Amino acid sequence: AQRIVIKIGTSSLIYPNGNINLAGIDQLAFVLTDLANRGKEVLLVSSGAIGVGMNKLGLKTRPVSIPEQQAVAAVGQAELMNIYNHRFLTYSQITAQVLLTRDIVEFPESRRNVTNTLNQLLVKKIIPVINENDTVSVEEMDHQTKFGDNDQLSAIVAQIIQADLLIMLSDIDGFYSGNPAVDQQAILYHTVHEITPEIMEQAGDKGSQFGTGGMVSKLAAAKRILAQNSLMVLANGEKPQVIFDILAGEEIGTLFC
Ligand code: ADP
Repeated sequence: AQRIVIKIGTSSLIYPNGNINLAGIDQLAFVLTDLANRGKEVLLVSSGAIGVGMNKLGLKTRPVSIPEQQAVAAVGQAELMNIYNHRFLTYSQITAQVLLTRDIVEFPESRRNVTNTLNQLLVKKIIPVINENDTVSVEEMDHQTKFGDNDQLSAIVAQIIQADLLIMLSDIDGFYSGNPAVDQQAILYHTVHEITPEIMEQAGDKGSQFGTGGMVSKLAAAKRILAQNSLMVLANGEKPQVIFDILAGEEIGTLFC
């Protein structure tokens, strides 16, 4: 794989106690910088703005109202970029912030502008850090402007820049026959070729209070990736070095192909 989109979920960025997983972010910066220096084109889709905002504002629970969530996300997005910039710079890697809305799906001109920007960043060996623009896009109820979540966004980005691979890092080892949090008997799928209704039924909700999409949205992203004949790997983001093993062809997590 040459052009790789990495999506990291909130559950990999924020500890259950609300602290920011700086060690994990540092490892991610280390791994992605190494890949970039070996000639890979790397894009990062990062969640975590609300979680980081909650941390910064000392909030113990996620705000209920959408305007409050947007405000917390605005604080958190700036802080998250601050952290990424810092951590990547220790490896001399430059990052850029790219905030997107559903415009890239609806409007060809917007899509072209985004594609051009991303391509130009990659030409300059800069790693784009992509997130949804939460100030512009309003929660799930407004399907006109909102992607739904970053799982979808990462698949759409992979599509428009024709990525070879989407690596989705979550707090779980892959896709199981049931939600392991409630089903002790659930087994891990190593490979999934098609998102059938039966497969869809085995996906449950999000795992943590910080998680957003849950398995359903990850499968929807996989469906999009499969439709464009690309690849997606869902793996545990606890140790970002796992990305090296995935690229080395090891059987890790769930491969959608
Ligand atoms: P992220 O923040 O990484 O996007 P989410 O919390 O949204 O993560 O989704 C991951 C969670 O989905 C897992 O922790 C798990 O509890 C839950 N889940 C539900 N169904 C499944 C399944 N069939 N296989 C694996 N995980 C599942």
